Amino acid sequence: MSVVETRGPEETEAHGARFAEHLAHGDVVLVSGELGAGKTTFVRGACRALGVAEPVTSPTFTIGQLYAGRVEVAHLDLYRIGSLEDEDPALLEDYLTPERVAFVEWPGVAARAFGRVRAHVRLGHAGGDARRIEVEE
Ligand code: ADP
Ligand code: MG
Repeated sequence: MSVVETRGPEETEAHGARFAEHLAHGDVVLVSGELGAGKTTFVRGACRALGVAEPVTSPTFTIGQLYAGRVEVAHLDLYRIGSLEDEDPALLEDYLTPERVAFVEWPGVAARAFGRVRAHVRLGHAGGDARRIEVEE
């Protein structure tokens, strides 16, 4: 497990970019932490490193979105899913394919549903603009 503290969003993006260098097709990365902890910021940096050029923001009206990069990236945000039991599991399968790298914000409700979890990234506030980022591979 690795732990770093970043002092601003740029550093969190840079950390996400370094982290992404180790990712391969089919990897699922769970990203947890409270609102504003920097989950999407971390994923944005990771996406840049994976060759994604388009804007990376939290999906708002769907549970996920897809980005084209050197590898296709799925970005899910399950914040609004209270319980996955009320949802069709195919909803996730649509996004998580062996060709893609997937990042899942708010994975809690669905943690069991993810097959190949490559890493779990946990972000937390550490005072002001500081964030503590824990990566468990
Ligand atoms: P989440 O997806 O966890 O809700 P976001 O990444 O969308 O969080 O938002 C994090 C917010 O905190 C952004 O407004 C960002 O600019 C700000 N911020 C301040 N310091 C940091 C930091 N060290 N790392 C990441 N984000 C930070
Ligand atoms: Mg987010």
